[in-house]
Amino acid sequence: MLKINNLHAEINGKSILKGLNIHVKAGEVHAIMGPNGAGKSTLANVIAGKEDYEVTEGIIELNGEDISELAPEERAHAGVFLSFQYPVEIPGVSVTNFIKTAINETRKARGQEDMPAKDMLQKIREKSELLEIDRKFLSRSLNEGFSGGEKKRNEIFQMAMLEPKIAILDETDSGLDIDALRIVANGVNKLKSKDNAVLVITHYQRLLDYIVPDFVHVLYDGKIVKTGDASLALELEAKGYDWIKQELVS
Ligand code: ADP
Ligand code: MG
Ligand code: MG
Repeated sequence: MLKINNLHAEINGKSILKGLNIHVKAGEVHAIMGPNGAGKSTLANVIAGKEDYEVTEGIIELNGEDISELAPEERAHAGVFLSFQYPVEIPGVSVTNFIKTAINETRKARGQEDMPAKDMLQKIREKSELLEIDRKFLSRSLNEGFSGGEKKRNEIFQMAMLEPKIAILDETDSGLDIDALRIVANGVNKLKSKDNAVLVITHYQRLLDYIVPDFVHVLYDGKIVKTGDASLALELEAKGYDWIKQELVS
């Protein structure tokens, strides 16, 4: 699904990712943890194609296709979803209308007609029921006055509707309350399938109490320095990151 080899990236001439490797297969959930400043958000942004970052070496492949030269929208159309991509408030544009437009833009990019209104409604109904999102929420203006939990609900709804191949959730917000964490976790657990993969980036182990990852990677100083199963997250919670630094120097 997603194959990243020897990825090097910089921002403003500062080297951040320094030879990062990660392979994610369909059906898998991978967690990326690491201390502040390790490069977690940089990795998410580089996969999504944010233009501030310069990839100086390495490959990023999605289902065997090199996506590293594609524009962010093209990557989205190819099936890359990054949470927090659209945090802007858009008064007068509802959650539903926003996602309808996004879906039809994706279809257009793939040479397809707009989704028939009836199918769109059916899909909205199906996904909102799956995620237990009520109709009132769907008609609210995008992000206007949204609480942390409501922003998460909107993101997960977007993810459900867009059905990405690889969903990247960068949980940067240390202010996330338990309610918001549960929304993200329930969403991921309900939406994961044998045809997609999820990369959950988090500084905090507690999110992984609710999402059980198949693999946990530690990102440190621009590289994946350790990979394990879900128990690695608990070990990190208990022991912090210093022991990993020790392992690296010894
Ligand atoms: P993480 O998400 O793991 O906390 P980031 O990817 O946000 O780490 O940041 C990695 C490093 O890149 C940090 O040292 C940060 O200061 C630096 N960095 C991030 N954005 C910029 C920028 N616009 N200009 C210069 N350095 C940056
Ligand atoms: Mg940070
Ligand atoms: Mg970050």
